[in-house]
Amino acid sequence: MDFYKGNVLRIDLSAKTATVEPLNMDWAALYVGGKGLLFRYMWEYIPPKVDPWAPENPLFLMTGPFAGTNVSTTSRLVVGAKSPTTGILNDSYVGGSFAPEMKFAGYDAIIVVGKAPEPTVVTVRNDVVEFLPAAPKYWGLKTSEIEQAMRDDFDPEAKTLSIGPAGETLNPWACLSTDQYHKAGRGGHGALMGSKNLKAIALRGTGSVTVGDARAFLADMARIHREFVLTDDNLWAHEEGTPVLVDLVNGAGAMPTRNWSEGYFEGAKNLNSESFQKIRVKKRACYQCAIGCRNFHGTTFAGKEVRGEGPEYETIALCGGNCGIGDIDALMEFNAECDEWGLDTISSGSVVGLAMDLTEKGVVDLGLRFGEVESYVKAPAMIAKRQGAGAELALGSRALAAKYGHPELAMEVKNLELPGYDPRGSFGMSVGYATSDRGGCHMRTYPVGDEILAGTVPADTMEGKVQQCITGDCANGFIGQNFSSIKFSGIWCDFWAVTPQQLAQMFKHVFKREVSEDEVMLMGERIWNLGRLFNVREGVQKDDIPKVLYAASGAFKDGPSAGKAIGEASFASSMHDYYQLRGWDQNGVPSEEKLAQIGVDVRL
Ligand code: SF4
Repeated sequence: MDFYKGNVLRIDLSAKTATVEPLNMDWAALYVGGKGLLFRYMWEYIPPKVDPWAPENPLFLMTGPFAGTNVSTTSRLVVGAKSPTTGILNDSYVGGSFAPEMKFAGYDAIIVVGKAPEPTVVTVRNDVVEFLPAAPKYWGLKTSEIEQAMRDDFDPEAKTLSIGPAGETLNPWACLSTDQYHKAGRGGHGALMGSKNLKAIALRGTGSVTVGDARAFLADMARIHREFVLTDDNLWAHEEGTPVLVDLVNGAGAMPTRNWSEGYFEGAKNLNSESFQKIRVKKRACYQCAIGCRNFHGTTFAGKEVRGEGPEYETIALCGGNCGIGDIDALMEFNAECDEWGLDTISSGSVVGLAMDLTEKGVVDLGLRFGEVESYVKAPAMIAKRQGAGAELALGSRALAAKYGHPELAMEVKNLELPGYDPRGSFGMSVGYATSDRGGCHMRTYPVGDEILAGTVPADTMEGKVQQCITGDCANGFIGQNFSSIKFSGIWCDFWAVTPQQLAQMFKHVFKREVSEDEVMLMGERIWNLGRLFNVREGVQKDDIPKVLYAASGAFKDGPSAGKAIGEASFASSMHDYYQLRGWDQNGVPSEEKLAQIGVDVRL
């Protein structure tokens, strides 16, 4: 079968069995792969209203149709589940080389169900699946250690998806790790894997992928790479990478600073692209990616060498400015610690910033203060081990702030901590955060692209933003939810500014027919609505953001975005408009008419 292997590997940890099911190609025709096909499988395989911590809540690993081919950025993996952190869907993306290895082993998807009776490692070599005890040898290992152990004990070429100690202690923002520095960060998939007593899946595949007429495909992809990948629109990612955002976002007064109490961080000059280029050791790339955005840095902290990929902009914003940390070496150490213990850096920086705020306001002394490096770099280990104040921080932002009587200080949406763009400096992000299908997230729609980076629309107005959040494409950087849904079904990386027209040109090889831009956007709208149906079925919380981000009383007193406020009435009106434009009722439920029009094949 071209582009797809046609196989889903179902791993039952309770029964210690592995079975292979045919990939549902009717669903693939409607939802493609990646995000879309993941949502369709989640709808079918997740028991409605299941307790996300229950063994019956599966963990899904899904590839896209181009994984294992030479199409740049598409060999990504999406990890999905009903999140134990948010109680709604979560799709979390990771690069590296695990997804192509899955295809080479013969699988488009892996579904992990049940719970192992004891800590377990699963090895997969093509069609041979084995269940090994994880304790005492592997349980407790950090992420680089478990990957090395799998290379030593299973296969030197093994690709491993694992949890660190934070996943074992069921930390709500524990992530999954592969190729050491690549993380499926958001939504607590590491905690779900830990709850299943699953330390790692180590994989080795020796097969290949097929694309039909290889000569025609390769010729077309060579053209597409020449015309659309190796261009000025994308080369910023290779030359600088996401640290380039620091000066731009901070300059617009939208960089979270000291637990979102300010939008401009005076220490950002120490954490910008120029600063990171001084400690850059080399560039790296995910499997078959011509852009190669990954920055490998090296420095020292407290006499110790710190080397590794990243940090990316989100980490710089949340673990840097949001914690009042302008020390690049300390930030490198904090990032490396999060990587090794298996913690998402966005949530880590957010929770540590909140703890600093609670301490400085005199609410409770959690031993952390804005800008204080010594306690800051110890926080990831304490959180992962739930030791000392780490046990408190491991509650997550919402529960921690509520416990000490200050829920207004928690910067989260649907219990997922917000990333690095303050809506007071980028009004469109208020709609993006509130309506994101997985909670606080910047990767569903990116108003920042037009409002700050391109500067093609004013950042301090809501005019036109709702429509753009829904239907924007990549042409001017303002990617919308419909387009991101199909893009992440491909699975194209965020850092290729691909357009609907370019997706259509590539999809025609998969579907063996002409594909129009309109069809591409329709598929995206279908996928977004399927996600909404899932969330409605599971009981989604109100689409809102922390009030301080839109209330007039929350406006900054200083900095580039001083005095700017969306206003409560304007924000409420935007939510009303959003539901109307989506064809949803005022409770946010997609109408029968809309579902029929866009071809969603399930109903509540
Ligand atoms: S652009 Fe960067 S993150 Fe994206 S696939 Fe390429 S190397 Fe990986």
